[in-house]
Amino acid sequence: MKRAATLAIVVAALSMATAPLAAQENARLAQQKADAAKGVDEMAKLAQEMVDSVFSFGELGMQEVETSRYLTAQLEKFGFKVTRGQSGIPTAWVATYGSGKPVIALGSDIDGIPQSSQKPGVAYHDPIVEGAPGHGEGHNTGMPLNIVAAIAVKRIMERDKLPGTLMLWPGVAEELVASKAWFVRDGMFKDVDVNLFTHVGGNLGVGWGQQGGTGLVSIEFTFEGETAHSAGAPWRGRSALDAVELMNIGWQYKREHLRLSHRSHSVITNGGDQPNVVPRNASIWFYFREIDQPNIKSLMETGIKMAEGAALMTNTKMTYRILGTAYPRHFNKPVAEAMYENIKSVGLPVWSEADQTLAKALQKEIGNPTQPGLAVKLGELGQPVPEERNNGGGSDDIGDISWNMPTVTLSYPSNIPGLPGHNWSSGIASATPIAHKGVVAGAKAQAMTILDLLSKPELVKNAWDYFNNVQTKEHKYTPFITKDTPPPTHLNKAILEKYREQMRKFYYDPTKYPTYLDQLGIKYPTVKQ
Ligand SMILES: [Zn+2]
Repeated sequence: MKRAATLAIVVAALSMATAPLAAQENARLAQQKADAAKGVDEMAKLAQEMVDSVFSFGELGMQEVETSRYLTAQLEKFGFKVTRGQSGIPTAWVATYGSGKPVIALGSDIDGIPQSSQKPGVAYHDPIVEGAPGHGEGHNTGMPLNIVAAIAVKRIMERDKLPGTLMLWPGVAEELVASKAWFVRDGMFKDVDVNLFTHVGGNLGVGWGQQGGTGLVSIEFTFEGETAHSAGAPWRGRSALDAVELMNIGWQYKREHLRLSHRSHSVITNGGDQPNVVPRNASIWFYFREIDQPNIKSLMETGIKMAEGAALMTNTKMTYRILGTAYPRHFNKPVAEAMYENIKSVGLPVWSEADQTLAKALQKEIGNPTQPGLAVKLGELGQPVPEERNNGGGSDDIGDISWNMPTVTLSYPSNIPGLPGHNWSSGIASATPIAHKGVVAGAKAQAMTILDLLSKPELVKNAWDYFNNVQTKEHKYTPFITKDTPPPTHLNKAILEKYREQMRKFYYDPTKYPTYLDQLGIKYPTVKQ
């Protein structure tokens, strides 16, 4: 009895001694977060200019030349140090500020979607340049978000002499999942403590644990045969196109016997030259998707076998090349929980009537039966998706990073919910007040989470405890590329060569027009009556 009472007094005395210090630190962090949020608000104009500029470039993966030039120039202007060309990818770069630990990396994708050129703010299909690529996913918004967040935090680091390093990096060619595994392989993140990734969505949110969706390997199979006159002496030719078609039909039969969680799809990238010449060369490009590494590997091996079979049947020679890969995603629990607290304090943007009118008109246009408009309620903190409930879906090569260090993905509301994705409709909001407000909200949550990581060493430690002792306890990262796999820097070159000069006429000039909508002369919103 007496002993317990003494202990209670000692505990009380101890907590009295430490409480004011802890309270002081919390108050300081709260003030820094408030200042960062204010700083982000003051940069709303810069955010809008960056979002609109990158939208107007509309570049595809590996060809993000204007985008990378523009974004790195912005970062250099604000005192970040830039290096370029990582992993032999010309449009890759890293921008850093500060020194020492912790090293907090901020990433987001920068590439667009083929055939998705679209006037922003117009609730029906209306391309800027017919047939050209565009931001039919909304990847023009993520790096502007990170840049604004990083500048806001940098100012506080300078003012309060906070140690640590900020590192910004772009998801080059995410739509081809063709850079992040290479960045990991080549050590881009070797000093990074935590990676805060951002991806556009329809709400402000974050989750942890094994995610839904798939990982994948993307492989192009090339067959080589022999030409001959298709009418005069067809028996003397060996058709590479026959091999492509046989592989493809073989795969369609195989499909019946694949797991329900799998996804696979292909395009023929070379079908020969002209009908009267037996095709000597032909190629088919497959995506093999599954929800875990062993099943992706098995699917890939099945594909290679089938290509070998097609080569045997046609007496052609087969070679293949990995063009992309994405690991299934797993996000860090302590960091996601900390970020979610910040998300709750930021809340959703206030949408105008014009914003909601555009969203509902587009949802109606694309056949969404309910037309819910834009999100007005925050979602819950995302939970792990158990394997038995994962029915497959899309991939993102952030998965490769997430298996190498604590990583989360902040989703921010710069797009309209309920769209098919990889489509012109996903570009409609991407250079409008919807995108601009979503970026400002996301940048605040991002900046506050960086401040948490810079100020609380225990958060970084807990993140690594989860990474080492929970996430990677039973499964270790086993990449699909080897040290010799080259990045596919040739992809999309021909498409940009075809369209760039037409697209250049529509690049955004912020010195002449307040917004890109103004430059294009679009009344916001433009909807069908
Ligand atoms: Zn994406």
